[in-house]
Amino acid sequence: MSVFAHLEQVPGDPILGLTEAFNADARPGKVNLGVGIYYDEAGRIPLLRAVDAVQRRLAEEGAARGYLPIDGLPAYTRATRELLFGVDSPLLAAGRVTTAQTVGGSGALRTGAELLKHSLPTARIAISNPSWENHRAVFGAVGFEVLDYTYFDAERHGLDFDGMLADLRRLEAGTVVLLHACCHNPTGADLDVGQWRQVIAVLAERALVPFIDIAYQGFDKGIDEDSAAIRLLADSGISNFMVASSYSKSFSLYGERTGALSVVCADADEARRVQSQVKRLIRANYSSPPSHGAMLVSGVLNDPELKLMWEQELGEMRTRIHALRAGLVARLDAQGAGRFAFINDQAGMFSYSGLSRAQVDRLRDEFAIYAVGTGRICVAALNDRNLEYVAEAIAKVAD
Ligand code: PMP
Repeated sequence: MSVFAHLEQVPGDPILGLTEAFNADARPGKVNLGVGIYYDEAGRIPLLRAVDAVQRRLAEEGAARGYLPIDGLPAYTRATRELLFGVDSPLLAAGRVTTAQTVGGSGALRTGAELLKHSLPTARIAISNPSWENHRAVFGAVGFEVLDYTYFDAERHGLDFDGMLADLRRLEAGTVVLLHACCHNPTGADLDVGQWRQVIAVLAERALVPFIDIAYQGFDKGIDEDSAAIRLLADSGISNFMVASSYSKSFSLYGERTGALSVVCADADEARRVQSQVKRLIRANYSSPPSHGAMLVSGVLNDPELKLMWEQELGEMRTRIHALRAGLVARLDAQGAGRFAFINDQAGMFSYSGLSRAQVDRLRDEFAIYAVGTGRICVAALNDRNLEYVAEAIAKVAD
């Protein structure tokens, strides 16, 4: 009798399943808008020049690959903290922020969830409706009851800010609130600075515990602008919050699994104790993080010239995404589908296009264009060669 005989088949991840179907599709000119990856004009995942420079240097030096410390490469965690909080942050000067390198942004969320479960065993977590689908899975796996708060207004294709505030106000004190710092996945609807201030006031008033997920820093307005939520929280007087960050997109290092968990503590002594807890969790999980991605990121961020080069490359990705949005909207407009102008107001790689599941099915069946069933499209998978075709197809199915 097998130990596993009673285990049922788990349904596959819908987005990864989409890519499998796309790969198996033999039609020429097929387009995959279902992914969460930035592709360059040639349709490739870019190798950033700054990353390549460090990679070559490491190869020449024959850099050793020993174990990293449990909480990662110190030069990486320090640079990450500075990128998130700003180099002049009083919280950093006070030693109140502790950062551990993690296995991607996903690993940061998981480690942060475990830390919170240990510290606040009965707390619940609230995530936006909708949210990145792994949020529910990660927090659920750690034993959290996952609630959601209103976020998106499908009719107006934008943020339902009043609904969001009202739901946050109803949460019990001590509830963890997961917030996307920028480039909300999947909707592309973000808060502006004024709205962040209002949300932070509610978080403070209701004694809620903010957990910021920042997976697209630099993909909307800029490196500092996209971490406005972190900077505002840091200034707010709220003594504790957490940040899960990822370099998968901003350094185009998806498979290297480079992320970090930063925890803001009441003082430096608390930060030391929290760091020891985070290390205990990591040690019992995967012992220590992978070194290659961290060496690449740290090599870039700690070299002023390469850092500048990376900032420029990130700026190019950002500008190109904005141009693709504008290009799509203009072409849709030219096809008589002017009602998609809202795509220009959405931020980051994704857009909730407002297409129904039936329209998404038609895109796939009739045009070999793959999008998520919810209507989410990845704008960063468009390019000059497929833009016209995609716009024509969307205009046809949306007619
Ligand atoms: N948070 C959000 C909102 C994301 O979209 C993603 C990646 N799709 C992650 C976290 C996880 O990032 P990583 O690939 O670095 O684990």
